[in-house]
Amino acid sequence: MVDKNISISNLIFFMKNMLSEVFKRDIKVRLRPGFFPFVEPGFELDISCAICGGDGCPSCKNSGWLELCPCGMIHPEVLKAGGIDPEEYTGFAFGLGLTRLAMMKYGVKDIRDLNSGSLKCLSQFTEDK
Ligand SMILES: [Zn+2]
Repeated sequence: MVDKNISISNLIFFMKNMLSEVFKRDIKVRLRPGFFPFVEPGFELDISCAICGGDGCPSCKNSGWLELCPCGMIHPEVLKAGGIDPEEYTGFAFGLGLTRLAMMKYGVKDIRDLNSGSLKCLSQFTEDK
C-alpha cells in the first residue's frame, strides 16, 4: 500500500483486519524488529497461536505466538526506484507465505507436513474446515 500519510499504524490495522477475516475470528498481532533490505523499519509479524489459543504448545514453542510474515515500511530507495517521491509518499509491504497461514487456519501441528508431498495430508483440507 502506497499513499500519502501511510504509517505503521496502517500496517497493523490492515494486517489485523485481513487476518481476522481469513481466520473468521479476532486475531492478535504483534511486531518485532527484523531486517529485510526493501523495508525500513522492518518487522516480523507474529499472531497468537491458533492451535493453543496463546497458552503455549509445541507448534508455537510454548510462546503462545507464531511468526507469520515479514513486513515493514517500504524503503525510500525502493519508492524512488519505482518513480515515487519518498518525501511525499510512504507505504507498507508484507510477504505472507501460504504454508504458515494454512498451518494456523487448519490447525496443522507440524508445518513440514505441508511439504511432505503426501496426498493423504493435502486431501484433508476442504473449503468448509
Ligand atoms: Zn501454540
